[in-house]
Amino acid sequence: MRGVIMNDKIDINYKDLRSYREINLSNLEHNLREIENIIDDNCKVMAVVKADAYGHGGVEVSRHLQKLGVGNFAVASIDEAIELRKSKIYGEILVLGYTPTSRKNDLINFNITQTIVDNDYANKLSETEGRVKAHVKIDTGMNRLGANCKDLENIVSIYKSKNLQIEGTFSHLSRADSLLEEDVAFTNNQIERFYEIIDKLKSENIDVGKIHIQSSYAILNYGHLKCDFVRPGIILYGVSSSPMDDTIKDIYLKPVLSLKSKIALVKDVKKSETVGYGNNFTTAKQTKIATVTIGYADGYPRGLSKKNMRVLINGEEGNIVGNICMDQLMVDVTNIDNAKAEDIVTLIGEDCGKYVSIDDISKINNTINNETLTALGTRVEKIYTY
Ligand SMILES: *Cc1c(COP(=O)(O)O)cnc(C)c1O
Repeated sequence: MRGVIMNDKIDINYKDLRSYREINLSNLEHNLREIENIIDDNCKVMAVVKADAYGHGGVEVSRHLQKLGVGNFAVASIDEAIELRKSKIYGEILVLGYTPTSRKNDLINFNITQTIVDNDYANKLSETEGRVKAHVKIDTGMNRLGANCKDLENIVSIYKSKNLQIEGTFSHLSRADSLLEEDVAFTNNQIERFYEIIDKLKSENIDVGKIHIQSSYAILNYGHLKCDFVRPGIILYGVSSSPMDDTIKDIYLKPVLSLKSKIALVKDVKKSETVGYGNNFTTAKQTKIATVTIGYADGYPRGLSKKNMRVLINGEEGNIVGNICMDQLMVDVTNIDNAKAEDIVTLIGEDCGKYVSIDDISKINNTINNETLTALGTRVEKIYTY
């Protein structure tokens, strides 16, 4: 991290940077408040900060959210959880994914809450001394992690494991992003199964702890559910998974991340010459080409080659030409008079009132924004602004 945050003032030498993501913490706060505004007063946000907070920086994002009053965090792995603990994140940290049972001591020593993925896992984790904090996951139809909701006996026995301190129960919806009739019916069925299990466990005097089932899309499409937590990921970062998605509740999100790079040099290329690897782009006329210091190893997808992708330079639009390389890409800047070495290139975000949306990148690359964000490479510095 090159952006140094000191007393909320940021000292950044943009000149030093090759390629970077600018992370706007005010927009993060805005999105958090938007989410808090639409959930029940007694429901809280469990911020999903897995995968380096979707490429936004797990530690910095979690610290900022903690300052804003968030006390519950979710990650995918124990190592992500330990990193947060070591960075003074004090609240509950739930590992949503599998942790090898050999790491039980880490779970205990770092006070991390582990997801119980099924009955066998509960047994193994419970075999050795020491109590692990846990939330039980119920599989209501996604068929990924969780104890099968149809097997009540199995589920009951999880809560009776002697070395588990169960503080929550949750499930995950696999089609909450879709408003197609069939998918809504499927989701309602998952929801019904979840609350049925909760009721049955309660009727057997089992303390299910805190319950939660909604990730981003379920917050927007199934907002009526009564839960103790919601688990937003992608909408915290101010974007939807896919721009085509319609949702029942609409909230005003502000994208948190912008992606920027630099021009290394600008050169004149004569008519009928090729640019970059292979024979993929031939100049139709004398063309001014800027070489930009970002490539697919930085997470700018190679699949965007030859798609006329737009970037912004000095508030003007240029198109990427030829194949995107590992560390660089080339832009036709014939119509950008003042383009020169060291100018900033905006690949995602705003420049002088013009905008390149991450939605375009994900759509053209046939993926979702979640992947585009988490694919950003370690060479792309993180700069925090307010
Ligand atoms: C990743 C994840 C989330 C967050 O999902 P978004 O769609 O990004 O909000 C919530 N719950 C679980 C179990 C997850 O794996």
